[in-house]
Formats: sequence, structure tokens, C-alpha cells
Amino acid sequence: MNLTNYHSHCVFCDGRADMESFVRFAVAQGFTSYGISSHAPLPYHTAWSMDWEHMKDYLNEFQRVKKKYDGLIEYYLGLEIDYLNDNYNPSSPFFQELPLDYRIGSVHLLEDVKGVTIDIDVAPVVFKDIVDDHFDGSLELLVNEYFRRQQRMLELGGFDILGHPDKLHYNANLMRPGIMEEKWFSQLVESLFETVARKGMMVEVNTKSFETYGVFFPNKMHFELLRQMNIPVMVNSDAHYPERINSGRPEALGALKNAGYESVRELYQGKWIDVKLEI
Ligand SMILES: [Zn+2]
Ligand SMILES: [Zn+2]
Repeated sequence: MNLTNYHSHCVFCDGRADMESFVRFAVAQGFTSYGISSHAPLPYHTAWSMDWEHMKDYLNEFQRVKKKYDGLIEYYLGLEIDYLNDNYNPSSPFFQELPLDYRIGSVHLLEDVKGVTIDIDVAPVVFKDIVDDHFDGSLELLVNEYFRRQQRMLELGGFDILGHPDKLHYNANLMRPGIMEEKWFSQLVESLFETVARKGMMVEVNTKSFETYGVFFPNKMHFELLRQMNIPVMVNSDAHYPERINSGRPEALGALKNAGYESVRELYQGKWIDVKLEI
């Protein structure tokens, strides 16, 4: 049950298969509702985000696939949009004008001490170098900037789902074990979720790294806090490969249930509804 996923990449960004392959796998596995959410274009080219010149093809390909699989699955189109700055983020008019079913707001990019944009959503070995080379060796500086940007993105709005909140905790905790229990850090997480609750946003439980590292984003230790704050959640696999669309989903649903959640959000007939959590 609860066979849904709304965070999924494809060849329009850094996903490793075409859009149709993800839907084909979803149908074959009995998913009832599925959304594609490529990395939205940035104002410059990157190896992992879509280019603006491909946006029209992205929208057209979605319509083609949707028609082909009509009646087999509820199929939706979104984007995973970065907060880059106050002029380029999910609330920007050029993203709002797109005919999307939903938007995910994510922070992968920070500005370093010199104002240079840097991707901090990286492998653990690279993360330490970023702290040393771009943040004067101060993990606190980087962490504070990361949370500040998530907060700012929430204040500006224009999206439905906060993408992998607090994802950096995994790398930060490898660099400084126990950091998640430090008061200043847990206060940053708490205040982030307070803003989510105040803004009435949904949070995803991102399972992309569960198979490799055994963690969810946000961390399982915060599921109870999310429930106490009445924050609606969904489980998303952030799949880049069709064979991983279901990775970590049963485990995440189980952890949510243990934290007291009785329902998850799913998208049907264009509306987000609370569906009984069944595992
Ligand atoms: Zn992401
Ligand atoms: Zn993603």
C-alpha cells in the first residue's frame, strides 16, 4: 500500500533513464500515483540540472507519456527547484507560470564566504574539503547558512513539498559525530519545522540514501517532532534509476508509523489527500 512517489528524476536532468521508463516501472510495481520532478533549470548550465531550452520538451514528453498510461496510474509533473537567491527560487514568476502539478523546494547550493555559489549536496569525502576551502574550516558557518537558506525559501514559498530537509546532517555528523544532539543544531532543525508548520507545507521523507547509508532525510529521530507539529508527510525515493523507485519506502513508512503517523499525503485527481498509512 501507499505505493506512491513524487520525487523522481529522469534524463532531462541527472536521472539515468527516460521519463517513460520510470512510469513503466511504477505501473509494473503497482504504484497508484507517481510524479516526475527533474532538477529545475538554473541560470547557468550544470551537469545535474535541466536547461531552460529543454523545458518545452519536458512538458510535451510528460503529456505524451501521461496519455499513453492513462487509466493505469495517476501521473503528475513537478520540478525540484533550488533556492539560489531571492530572485531565483521556487517563488520566481518563471517557475510559477509553468503548468506543473506541484513543486518541490530544495537547497543544494550555498554561497561561500567569498560569495561563490557552491554545491554542498556531495559525497562525504568532498564535504570536508568544502568546509575547509569555502567556509574557513567552520562547519558551524556552513550549517547555519544551510538552514538560513531553507528558512528563506520557506518564507518566500511557491512550492508544496520541502525536499530532503536537513539532508546535510549526514555529512555533518560524519565530520563531527554527535553534532545532531548539540543544542544549537537541534534548535535549527526545530525552528525549520516550526516554519514548515506555520506555512502549512508538506515534508517528504526522502529515502534516496537509505540503501547505502541507512538514513532518511529528515532523520528518523525527528519523525515524532513532525507528527507533534501536525506536519503532513509523504515518502519519496528521489529515484535516479527506475529500479530504485521503491527503495526504502516500506522502511520509511514503518518508521513513520512507529512515530505515530496514521496517514501519508498522496495525490489523486489533482488533490493532495491524507491516505491511511498501511504497511
Ligand atoms: Zn535534491
Ligand atoms: Zn532530487
